[in-house]
Amino acid sequence: MARCDQGYLCHICGEEVKRLDQSLLYLRYVIGWITVEQLTQQPEAHLGCTPSVAQFIVAEEFATPDLGEEPAAKRFLDPEFRQAREALLTAGYQRLRYLQKHRRQMPIAQYPLSAATPSE
Ligand SMILES: [Zn+2]
Repeated sequence: MARCDQGYLCHICGEEVKRLDQSLLYLRYVIGWITVEQLTQQPEAHLGCTPSVAQFIVAEEFATPDLGEEPAAKRFLDPEFRQAREALLTAGYQRLRYLQKHRRQMPIAQYPLSAATPSE
């Protein structure tokens, strides 16, 4: 992670992704969807620019997008699948908020939820 102090650019809006809790890549990393190697290989995006993913984040601090009648809207999903996905992505988002505060003390290998200490 040689470039870790410089944010990556969002491939949708072109702006820098400045915070961990705005990062689609880091969200996918902390929930185990991508490996640490893929963090530097896949396109970055703001969570706010990727509503099909962000719609599953249900948190006070997050403006959850509503996809309305779009085919990708979560209302069209099987309720159990939808709930499981909301639980996972919301937990991932809370993890990112925690990491945003504590990133300097934590190695990147400790970022994923699966590496989280039970006391947290
Ligand atoms: Zn963006």
